[in-house]
Amino acid sequence: MAVVGLMRYAARMSTCFKCGQPMDPASATYDANGELVCARCSTLEQIDAGDQRAAMSILGPAAGGALLGGVSICINPMLVCSVLAVLSCVGALVTLLRHPEYHARMGWRVPATWAFAIVGILLALVRPLLFALFLGL
Ligand SMILES: [Zn+2]
Repeated sequence: MAVVGLMRYAARMSTCFKCGQPMDPASATYDANGELVCARCSTLEQIDAGDQRAAMSILGPAAGGALLGGVSICINPMLVCSVLAVLSCVGALVTLLRHPEYHARMGWRVPATWAFAIVGILLALVRPLLFALFLGL
């Protein structure tokens, strides 16, 4: 009875937990949940985790650009805050447009990124436009 249990355990240990394919236990690794997975599934999981991190990091620069755009109305020495806000917002939008494959992962963060970036750019332009009006340009 114990031998059958050991054989079942050995058979389970030599198949990948994710894909169910037979695997070489020597090249197997543990996934985030502690399950033994094959090298292919482990690689796919690492790529997926990297894509997830990249997708989640697009909203931050847009939100930061919006915040900096708001700050640029009050504090804006040499228009540095305006320039940085526009660069941050445009950078976030460029990243968003270059990687449509991240949109499904981002969910509500896609429209939020657009909103933050547009608001940030508009706020960043307030002080330079007032400056131009003051100079009569
Ligand atoms: Zn696998």
